[in-house]
Amino acid sequence: MSKGKGLPSTTPEDVAASAASDHDADDLTCAICLDQIKVEEICAVKGCEHVYCGKCILAWAVQKEPVWCPQCKAPFSTLLTYRKLDGTLSDFPVEESVCLLKRAHWFESHMKVSVHPTPCMA
Ligand SMILES: [Zn+2]
Ligand SMILES: [Zn+2]
Repeated sequence: MSKGKGLPSTTPEDVAASAASDHDADDLTCAICLDQIKVEEICAVKGCEHVYCGKCILAWAVQKEPVWCPQCKAPFSTLLTYRKLDGTLSDFPVEESVCLLKRAHWFESHMKVSVHPTPCMA
């Protein structure tokens, strides 16, 4: 019952992924600004769970249509965020549409410089 060459079941990608998820509790780095993400600014991409600062991922989203994750290139339209559309903070992550978040006043005031989000198609 020998299988011959036993292929390793873990790929380098798997190892990197588990290493990354190991320390996501207190060491969250935004792949866009390469800075530590403040807890209240954490925004996770729904689907792949990559995290960014809310303002970074939204600034990225403004320029991309459709929007895809800067790290794994997975398309997404929903973010898990603590900062709600009205700017208040939630105790737990809430799902918000990227399209709506791009029009949130707290984000628009951050992006005051001439950025015009594409119209919401939804
Ligand atoms: Zn950032
Ligand atoms: Zn991703």
